[in-house]
Amino acid sequence: MNNTVTDVIVIGAGHAGLCVSYYLTRNGIRHIVFEQGRVGETWRSQRWDSFKLNSANKLNLLPGQLGYFDDPDAFSFANEFALSLETYMKQLNLPVKEHCNVLEVKKDETQTIFHVTISEEGTESTYLSRQIVIASGGQNKIRIPSFAKNVSPRVLQLHTCYYKNPGQLPNGNVLVVGSAQSGTQVADDLVRANRNVFLSTGMAGRFPRRYRGKDIFDWLFGMGFYDVLTDDITDPAILTMKPPQVSGAGERGKTTSLQSLARQGVKIFGRAANADLETMFFQPDAAAHVKYADEFSLTIKRLIDEYIKENNLPDPLPELDPDDIPDEHASCASVITQLNLDDNNINSIIWTTGFSGDFNYLKLPVLSEQKTPKHHNGLSAVEGLYFIGLPWLRKRKSAVIPGISDDAEYIVNQIVRNTHL
Ligand SMILES: Cc1cc2nc3c(=O)[nH]c(=O)nc-3n(C[C@H](O)[C@H](O)[C@H](O)COP(=O)(O)OP(=O)(O)OC[C@H]3O[C@@H](n4cnc5c(N)ncnc54)[C@H](O)[C@@H]3O)c2cc1C
Repeated sequence: MNNTVTDVIVIGAGHAGLCVSYYLTRNGIRHIVFEQGRVGETWRSQRWDSFKLNSANKLNLLPGQLGYFDDPDAFSFANEFALSLETYMKQLNLPVKEHCNVLEVKKDETQTIFHVTISEEGTESTYLSRQIVIASGGQNKIRIPSFAKNVSPRVLQLHTCYYKNPGQLPNGNVLVVGSAQSGTQVADDLVRANRNVFLSTGMAGRFPRRYRGKDIFDWLFGMGFYDVLTDDITDPAILTMKPPQVSGAGERGKTTSLQSLARQGVKIFGRAANADLETMFFQPDAAAHVKYADEFSLTIKRLIDEYIKENNLPDPLPELDPDDIPDEHASCASVITQLNLDDNNINSIIWTTGFSGDFNYLKLPVLSEQKTPKHHNGLSAVEGLYFIGLPWLRKRKSAVIPGISDDAEYIVNQIVRNTHL
């Protein structure tokens, strides 16, 4: 046990933890950031080789960070972004301790001090702090439907976080399950390597990559779309929507629609509902998913049109984006509801079915029955314990890189107030 009581311990050194550390440093607050792997670990170990961020370089700059890129409008590879986080930590001298896995967080008998037990190179030790920020991310436990275990062991099954490149898969065809950002990008990666791909889709929206002369995120951040407050959302369905399909792959990123994938030979199926040894069963909803994504893109473009009109902005003509043209009759969607894996030479399945956070190390009443964080705007019911980096923490932009500074500053302001009480 280290008996020194520090002001704050931050758990996790992704962009969220580093950004909190930046504001703590600026306010002269003593703290330590514990990271189980290396800084930006998820970008190093959980992305595939061709992955590029879908937010342009200029949007990914953290406060106080020097530009690390030649082209502000280009999209970085995951390892480039991880390296930029590492450089940020070094330039600003942020107090990060890498390879320290937090095993347990609890409070002492007086309920004033947090006890944080870490494992570092196999040795356990406990650190004490007055306040604590949980920045360990909402994406460290993979989610795969339970029926995956019914599938024959001859089929290689991988979650996206273990997928690196097509060469890692056995020869033959691939079933990708999930059609939000990761699923459509992985399908695109495979098809470019001449793999035959079967894509099981879900209800995910789509962003056109560019519209009226600008990247879609330039419009959306510029017009305040991402500034919507969680407290102002009346329809809870909005809070659980999947991130819309869009990709940073290629020179200037691209639109990834189901119909554009179908044109490249991808077979579009409905939601995977069950499986047995050699059969995958789908819901008959592929057409609904195609229509939903088309509608979503049209709605976004309508919002931009309205914004341009209301603000008297120049309105260059929309560019022709063949990948964003609606498939009016959803003709790319298959009506087939079951697929024999063996007959179709499917030897691999990639589950792009998402993640959840792993907060089991928190031995405090801050988790729901489903083990998800209970908080309001990042403030938990336990005094001095805060969350950051979660979808809709305070705003629509809370879980994306360009939104983190706002939340980090807000949380650190609470910490400063508590520190000086
Ligand atoms: C495939 C994919 C693509 C994405 N692309 C983009 C994009 O292009 N642009 C964008 O803005 N957003 C993107 N996102 C969203 C963004 O990556 C996440 O919202 C973001 O990584 C969250 O940042 P974070 O710092 O909160 O969490 P993370 O980046 O997950 O960082 C959490 C850190 O905590 C560490 N940690 C976890 N548990 C412990 C523990 N017990 N002890 C110590 N350390 C621990 C982890 O190792 C990790 O380094 C993408 C997400 C995914 C899954």
